[in-house]
Amino acid sequence: MIESTTYKFAKCLQKRFGIIPGVTDKQYITNSYHIKVTEPIDAFSKIKLESEFQALSPGGAITYVEVPNMQNNIPAVLEVIKFIYNNIIYAELNTKSDYCQVCGYDGEIKIVKDESTGRLVWECPNCKNRDQDKMNVARRTCGYIGLTNTGLALSSFSSSQRGLQFLFVS
Ligand SMILES: [Zn+2]
Repeated sequence: MIESTTYKFAKCLQKRFGIIPGVTDKQYITNSYHIKVTEPIDAFSKIKLESEFQALSPGGAITYVEVPNMQNNIPAVLEVIKFIYNNIIYAELNTKSDYCQVCGYDGEIKIVKDESTGRLVWECPNCKNRDQDKMNVARRTCGYIGLTNTGLALSSFSSSQRGLQFLFVS
């Protein structure tokens, strides 16, 4: 699958060319015409710029806009959606919509470091629940939404430090 392919490609590039800052220094590669996730760019500029490349990608294309929890800023969500409608063929607005089954928190569940083990774990900011079987967290790694209740998703997510997303909750 693409999540492991992008990791494998990144590793192969590092092996062949060494660690080049800004080029091969990540555990993933940026595919397609996507502007790299660390680029400081606003949603509207990103959509506009990437829209110029969609016509060159007849096999399929999608632009992602990563945003924080937007539940309290619906007018801004609507502005981005209108901009998508008017400027690009296919795009997606990704926000955080995690759910804690213990306390009912509905927002963004964050990664924290477990003090005793040193491992990265998901923790509900409301009730501090860390039981991954009692939460729904999904993040996008390399273009695809994955549930994070697996170690792989957590390690990919944390190593790439992307501000990724949800789409489906189980
Ligand atoms: Zn909770």
